[in-house]
Amino acid sequence: MNEFEKQIAGICDKGLYSLKIETLQVNLGLRCNQQCSHCHLEASPQRKEMMEWPTMQMVLKAVETVDCKLIDLTGGAPELNPNFRRFVKALCQEGRRVQVRTNLTVLLEPDMEGLPEFFRDHRVQLVASLPCYLQENVCAQRGRGVYERSIEAIKRLNGLGYGSESGLPLNLVYNPGGPFLPPPQLDLEKDYRRELGQRFGVAFTRLLTITNMPLGRFRAELIRKKEEENYLQLLRKSFNPQTVTGLMCRHQISVGWDGTLYDCDFNLALALPVNHGAPNHIRSFKPLDLRMRRVVTGEHCFACTAGSGSSCGGALV
Ligand code: SF4
Ligand code: SF4
Repeated sequence: MNEFEKQIAGICDKGLYSLKIETLQVNLGLRCNQQCSHCHLEASPQRKEMMEWPTMQMVLKAVETVDCKLIDLTGGAPELNPNFRRFVKALCQEGRRVQVRTNLTVLLEPDMEGLPEFFRDHRVQLVASLPCYLQENVCAQRGRGVYERSIEAIKRLNGLGYGSESGLPLNLVYNPGGPFLPPPQLDLEKDYRRELGQRFGVAFTRLLTITNMPLGRFRAELIRKKEEENYLQLLRKSFNPQTVTGLMCRHQISVGWDGTLYDCDFNLALALPVNHGAPNHIRSFKPLDLRMRRVVTGEHCFACTAGSGSSCGGALV
């Protein structure tokens, strides 16, 4: 039993088990037009890993067998996958609601013309990273020029109804600029709305706060600054038992770019596939065996249970 499972033993005495599959998250590849300092997957323009069409076909087959509410596409920058639009269209034809995790700046890349309109036409929900409303903090994490291009992309999306029309949500994502927990989500949302509204007149639907995972580039930076142990201690001592029911691994499953199944995108970063006897590749996807699987946990799980909790959908409590 690892430290995390010891911590939750009073709540889940047989380990952490999933409850249902409401969301199927699909990682379309690790290539990204950015190279952010906190990226848990160490995505970058140099990465070659990419989901291929035959694997997407297996995902489409799996989707027919599972009664999930949402297909959540992530990466890297999922839009850079050459089969991205074909895959989204096929999912929509299956009648599935599709959500894309976009870094915004990719929408301004040369080969991406018409992508915002494609999103609107297919009623794709958008979750977009904007780790601060201040330029200097965004550029420190995500690179020079990213703030201005992100605002430009939000303006284009707003022009199509994103962030104001029902059915076209544009949720923004905050993550801390260092080894500390996010502030309360609703308070920060008010600040974002006021600052982005006053400065640029842009709108968004909701703000989601996500805790930095001690993985990938963020972990490398912690080690470099000799802050890793302090951060891990902060996560452990901020354990909040109320977050355990809502942990995202209990409500979703992640498909890696090569079809391997993971309990979450963080376990993907650690190359820790689904285990404990459940099928671990999309080709053998069986909802009944996966729905109530035992989740693979580790020290990093304390980032999901710290404070108000954290998930791809923001705070948990
Ligand atoms: S955090 Fe997102 S935008 Fe930044 S490098 Fe990673 S995948 Fe790309
Ligand atoms: S890191 Fe993944 S497996 Fe661990 S608690 Fe968070 S969502 Fe669940």
